[in-house]
Amino acid sequence: MVSRKEVSKVIEDWVNLFNLQSYEIEFTMTEIKNLAEIQTDYKYKRAVIYISPKIKRRELNRAISHELLHILVGEIRAQLRPLLDRITQAEADKVLFTEESVVEQLSRVFCSLVEFDPKEVK
Ligand SMILES: [Zn+2]
Repeated sequence: MVSRKEVSKVIEDWVNLFNLQSYEIEFTMTEIKNLAEIQTDYKYKRAVIYISPKIKRRELNRAISHELLHILVGEIRAQLRPLLDRITQAEADKVLFTEESVVEQLSRVFCSLVEFDPKEVK
């Protein structure tokens, strides 16, 4: 089982890498559908990351980088909020699906770059 301390350290490292220090980011370990989820409040620059207690140590970097990238990429969606209210559900779903796909690809790239770093402790 992954400790809160380990999760906290991984979050801190990715927050620094993504330059997200201006956000107040908390996390909570709780039973959820996925390994990790995030809720972001762009107005107040706050986010809560939900982490499943089932998560394994080797999954932390991928899961946490993914959730934090949602903050960065989701800012575009947050800016388009008035527009999103005027499009169909199918169109809105497509925007969310695209965000998910972009975030997932970026997370893979960042994690493989981190693995190349000899300073990174595995
Ligand atoms: Zn996602």
